[in-house]
Amino acid sequence: MTTLTKKEDHSLYANAFGFLRLPMDFNPVQSGTDLIITGVPFDLATTGRSGARFGPEAIRKASVNLTWEGKRWPWFFSLKDHLSVADCGDLVFECGNAQDMSDTLFQHADRLLSVGKRMLTFGGDHFITLPLLRAHAKHYGPLALIHFDAHTDDYDQGGKFDHGTMFYHAQVEGLIDTSASTQVGIRTNYDHKNTPFNILDASYVNSTPVAEIIDNIRKRTGNRRVYLTFDIDCLDPAFAPGTGTPVCGGLTSDRALQLLRGLEGLDIVGMDVVEVAPAYDHADITALAGATIALEMLYLQAAQSKAT
Ligand code: MN
Ligand code: MN
Repeated sequence: MTTLTKKEDHSLYANAFGFLRLPMDFNPVQSGTDLIITGVPFDLATTGRSGARFGPEAIRKASVNLTWEGKRWPWFFSLKDHLSVADCGDLVFECGNAQDMSDTLFQHADRLLSVGKRMLTFGGDHFITLPLLRAHAKHYGPLALIHFDAHTDDYDQGGKFDHGTMFYHAQVEGLIDTSASTQVGIRTNYDHKNTPFNILDASYVNSTPVAEIIDNIRKRTGNRRVYLTFDIDCLDPAFAPGTGTPVCGGLTSDRALQLLRGLEGLDIVGMDVVEVAPAYDHADITALAGATIALEMLYLQAAQSKAT
């Protein structure tokens, strides 16, 4: 163990570091920054292959590849000029206790939102979005959900802690306004006659011009505040094999990034990237996709600050 020297500060590989080598801040409520990143190493709600508990560290590690570019293409400005961000590390909860994770994450988010922070959270499995939505809806009212996924995650079957049921519970609890909500990239069974969501399935998304898709999402959202959640399995397994429930026929990473950038200007009040499971990954491509999506989310926030 040696003290960091100035030279080592410039290494992309020297440990330890937060997302994008941003400063770590373990007292995020007191932090002087606009936005707080939190990892949630939780995968007890997975129905298929577990392993997303290692998502946050994989995303952080892959994110070092994204730090060299000061002004980022195609934004052509520097994130740090318009948004200050700190990484508060991973949520600490009682190991094996899903209820404790859920309560602890809600309280963590509630405290941050109470002092006006914005949040970007790394899963963990997709269940983590439910306590996050509870906290965000408490502060902002019912939200438009913009949800990228291969699955609708609104199944009314399943246990209390199940990463396929959050958006059923979110409706029952009044956390989201489905009339303003869109699900993007769906390619598994859903109640296509009765779904209250605007579902843009993978076939539509893969065969429709990006501008048209963006227009569709924005019209549905209207002026509602948005919670943006990205399940990495929205991407095709060719672009994101490292996830618990991969489904063929998904989006390319390029298409997903273009769609995300198309959300610029919407009032996005909360964001997460979930379901990166590095044990099934190859060459860190899923982790890099997750880190890149997370960075684009930060740029969406920065663009919002830049415009105001
Ligand atoms: Mn999914
Ligand atoms: Mn999901």
